[in-house]
Amino acid sequence: MALQFYNTMSRSLEEFRPMEAGRVRMYTCGPTVYNRAHIGNFRAYVFEDLLRRHLKASGYALTHVMNLTDVDDKTIRTSLAEGLPLKDFTKRYIDGFFEDIAALNIERAEHYPAATDYIPEMIELIQALLDKGVAYASEDGSIYFSIEKFPEYGRLAHLDRAGLRPGARVAQDEFEKEDAADFALWKAWSEKDGDVAWDAPWGRGRPGWHIECSAMSMKYLGPSFDIHCGGVDNIFPHHECEIAQSESATGKPFVRYWLHCAHLVVDGKKMSKSLGNFFTLGDLLGEGFSGREIRYQLLATHYRQTLNFTREGLLAARAALARVDEFSDRLRQRAGSVVAGERPEWASAGLAAFRAAMDHDLNVSEGLAALFDMLRAGNKGLDGGEISPAGAAAALSVLAELDNVLGVLKPAGVEADADVLALVEQRQAARAAKQWAESDRLRDEIASRGWLVQDSAQGPKLRRK
Ligand code: AMP
Ligand code: ZN
Repeated sequence: MALQFYNTMSRSLEEFRPMEAGRVRMYTCGPTVYNRAHIGNFRAYVFEDLLRRHLKASGYALTHVMNLTDVDDKTIRTSLAEGLPLKDFTKRYIDGFFEDIAALNIERAEHYPAATDYIPEMIELIQALLDKGVAYASEDGSIYFSIEKFPEYGRLAHLDRAGLRPGARVAQDEFEKEDAADFALWKAWSEKDGDVAWDAPWGRGRPGWHIECSAMSMKYLGPSFDIHCGGVDNIFPHHECEIAQSESATGKPFVRYWLHCAHLVVDGKKMSKSLGNFFTLGDLLGEGFSGREIRYQLLATHYRQTLNFTREGLLAARAALARVDEFSDRLRQRAGSVVAGERPEWASAGLAAFRAAMDHDLNVSEGLAALFDMLRAGNKGLDGGEISPAGAAAALSVLAELDNVLGVLKPAGVEADADVLALVEQRQAARAAKQWAESDRLRDEIASRGWLVQDSAQGPKLRRK
């Protein structure tokens, strides 16, 4: 079956065909860097990572762009409150963002443009909209997009156009559907902005949030590209405004497939900074959960279903991963150093079922069901002594293929800190020198840091205690 995605634009499943054979151009809205991202944000980034990895596993080359929103109402307000220059302030959270995505094993996109590096492109785009008469200046020198001039405004979000208020204006970046009105492309400088301002032909100020994404996506991907993602809260107004700006300026269709993930909720409420019901990755790591366990819970629910994030869910993720680890250990012991031979039937069937599930709009629940079916069949085969070393090695390579997409099956051992790994090395040296007392002491030392070391034919293995 061909690769299919649910397109928010058509509200239906569509076969995926990129504009250029063999290459996918995609844009995903990135973090606003005024705070540490919360687990809700990471649900969106993990979904996009799964999409990215599955496209690659399906044979596509990728140009994936994720922006960093380093100037907007929130970044300016908070940097001023802290008395820091905007760049110094946002750098802290940009660094934090990259640390967090590494802990969640999220692959790096090809490009991470920061908005403040593309102001000339934004000015050019706004100028094009002014020249076409779809944008206008307000009394205070801000520039607004006239939604009356774009009859398709509201198509993505299914807005009732009769309820639109052309001519009325909304200055904030985020507004409700009921308040849909002309929106700001450029905000004239005011005292609230401190020293954050750029010169444009129509006056001093700064870009609105929506124009940032139009300018940066088209800069890297051209006027039309394949996929644009975000959370469902981005559909309106953000993505609706991106379409209006981009298509009005270029006269070309902006994006072919719009994919949006449902929210992550806590006690039934969207996790968000404004509600104060959020936790960061650091909070959860501090409680002793690993990035791998958190990633598992974030990806195990289909992206279009609401994800209720709980500690119990994390413990279930831990248990599921322990089963995976135990199974791969058994396969590794059976395989020894033998090269992979023919795949056992259950492994080929599992891989085919996994791929088919992911082709079907990233149906990860079915994909994981295929993985656990493999585990059951494989464990049974191992119990019965039916799996040859070459077959076990082949099954391990199937697990590795699944993991190219899931990014979560590699054992937890790889996550131990460098100091723990150094202790493991010292212990290996002690064992080689037959210093058994020292080796035992080091084993205890490693245990006191939360890791069990197990010796195997392939060398020592680490497991979280
Ligand atoms: P923001 O920094 O608020 O612009 O959000 C960055 C990304 O996270 C966007 O794609 C949002 O749609 C997404 N997002 C924010 N909150 C949640 C949530 N509770 N669940 C899922 N995605 C979210
Ligand atoms: Zn965006």
